[in-house]
Amino acid sequence: MTWLAILLSMLAMTAIVALRYLAASGVFAMLTQRVRPGYHSRLGPQIRREIGWSLASAAIYGIPAGLVAWGWQEHGWTRIYTAWDSWPLWYLPLAPLLYLFAHDTWFYWTHRLMHRPRWFRSMHAVHHASRPPTAWAAMSFHPWEALTGAVVIPALVFIIPIHVAMLGLVLLVMTVMGVTNHMGWEMFPRALVHSKLGSWLITASHHQRHHEEYRCNYGLYFRFWDRVCGTDRGLSPNA
Ligand SMILES: [Zn+2]
Ligand SMILES: [Zn+2]
Repeated sequence: MTWLAILLSMLAMTAIVALRYLAASGVFAMLTQRVRPGYHSRLGPQIRREIGWSLASAAIYGIPAGLVAWGWQEHGWTRIYTAWDSWPLWYLPLAPLLYLFAHDTWFYWTHRLMHRPRWFRSMHAVHHASRPPTAWAAMSFHPWEALTGAVVIPALVFIIPIHVAMLGLVLLVMTVMGVTNHMGWEMFPRALVHSKLGSWLITASHHQRHHEEYRCNYGLYFRFWDRVCGTDRGLSPNA
């Protein structure tokens, strides 16, 4: 019966990831329609492809997540904790930052590799087939690329301790930024985007430039690696 329990956990996680995607992308696609009426109106066929690839990605994300969630519940795997005082209070907000930085680092380097011509065609061309991307492109990845993303959080929970609520926060940031960075317009105030802090953060106008020029702006949340490696070309004037 163990196998059945694992399978059910994977199916449940797949459903959660798929519904989370549909809800988040749906909300921001509606907002896009309000803020920029007709902006993506001629992209119907592209959006249908984005939704198809994204739902396939949800299944790929659901498999490792389901396995780890089952192991956590049944065998106490992972370093996820639930009691607020298991770790000092100052560590509470630090953990999500460590997760985001680790995820960003993994994403930057795998993303750069996937822009090598050979890897690009087989793994990453699907994501760049969105021209321009929309809110529905958040999880529009070829299955091989989806696999590189799907293993990150399930691996990190074995390495970096985190309170379950802070893990929820990481997943929320991951979902919202994944969607909003593809919707083609900046939802954050200019004062933040053009501030000193903003110059280290990735929002829509930064990732939009990656989709326009390909060989720059590879990061996910932070501009740290792009800046260190000289691949940061700044914000797109079009978002
Ligand atoms: Zn993208
Ligand atoms: Zn890319």
